[in-house]
Amino acid sequence: MGANRFLLGIGGVAAALMSMFGQQACAQVPGTGDPIKGLVSRLDLERYKAAIKGLTQFGDRLQGTERNRQAVDWIEAQLKSYGCANTERLKYAYNGLPLRPQPGAAASTPVSIIASGEVRLGTGGSRLRGTMRPAIPNNDPNAQSDPALRALNAGPSMPGPRDEVFCTKIGATRPDEMYIVGAHMDGRGFGEAADDDGSGTALVMELARVFSSPDVVTERSIRFVLWNNEETGHDGARAYVAQRAPLQGKEDPPGSGSYPEPKWLGMIQHDMMLWDHGMPRADGTVSAEQRPEADINIEFQSSAKSADRAMKLAFIFRDANEKYATDYPAAVGNHMSNTDSNEFMDTVPAISLRENERGMQIGAGWNPHYHQPTDRYSSYSDKDFRLGLNAAQTTLAAIAQLSGATLRK
Ligand SMILES: [Zn+2]
Repeated sequence: MGANRFLLGIGGVAAALMSMFGQQACAQVPGTGDPIKGLVSRLDLERYKAAIKGLTQFGDRLQGTERNRQAVDWIEAQLKSYGCANTERLKYAYNGLPLRPQPGAAASTPVSIIASGEVRLGTGGSRLRGTMRPAIPNNDPNAQSDPALRALNAGPSMPGPRDEVFCTKIGATRPDEMYIVGAHMDGRGFGEAADDDGSGTALVMELARVFSSPDVVTERSIRFVLWNNEETGHDGARAYVAQRAPLQGKEDPPGSGSYPEPKWLGMIQHDMMLWDHGMPRADGTVSAEQRPEADINIEFQSSAKSADRAMKLAFIFRDANEKYATDYPAAVGNHMSNTDSNEFMDTVPAISLRENERGMQIGAGWNPHYHQPTDRYSSYSDKDFRLGLNAAQTTLAAIAQLSGATLRK
């Protein structure tokens, strides 16, 4: 499709950014049927919720436990059932120390209010503002008040071998290049890790389902990865980079047309997609309702070697949100931190999508369920789940554009 029709199809800013990424247009002139709109309509709230619910049957999916291994098996079976047939596992070892119990740590840390003019820094280069709640992970299994969930989460975390699963949509004309779409499937806190990060894992699984449909064709490849060991410091993502970065773009065996590790064009991480209820009140309480101004926070890291291109990638996602997401807007920030995309950001444009900014907002305790026994499916309303669905719409639309997706007639 020609550039002029592309400019009609999506906004001029998006077109300019897309051309910087060297991408062809795939959006169409309004009225002739937009394949991306058709793809986005294949996502729905009930399917997204069901995927999160499915993950919560394995409790908090703490790394190194039997429930974590069962969750990896379940995710793999789901991906295969979607037709994402090229399902593989990355294997690595994690021998770090287990998380030590900190009973009552969160309760004993007071709410603090940052004074006018006081400069207090958060992670990723962020600056903290206003009222802060403690954001200390719960490491005490007995803090779970539901006996059935407490029993489900009772198995120990042991050092040793680890698996993480991924599958790939192979590009029709550029199988040697790919976008990586990721989320971490491990959790912590002795709840159900429904938001952190069942919500991101379900999003990636739903995108794998839509892109794996036999009538969807993409020019470039897309890899859907469910990282393990994020909560111990991105160990699963780091193992992936160490093992697979050197394989990028190599045809193997030569002449086969098969590329086990297509060249990385970008990495898009999804980590906590549900809760945006605003700043805590002065007494430390948080609104029970999703705030009407809730948005998706797309972050890149301004200190990364690929920062300039990551910033452009972030704005492609913001434009995709404006055109295709049904309910909630997206904002771009420059302090991406504390998630798997950090392991990629010096090699390739890397961004994260979240419910809030990681440094300034999640880091200030805006989400009272963060790493807590209350991070359960039942703690969230449809308004919360809908924020995650809108993030799925955003990434699906952006990746459809970037990978050159069309629908086979
Ligand atoms: Zn997380």
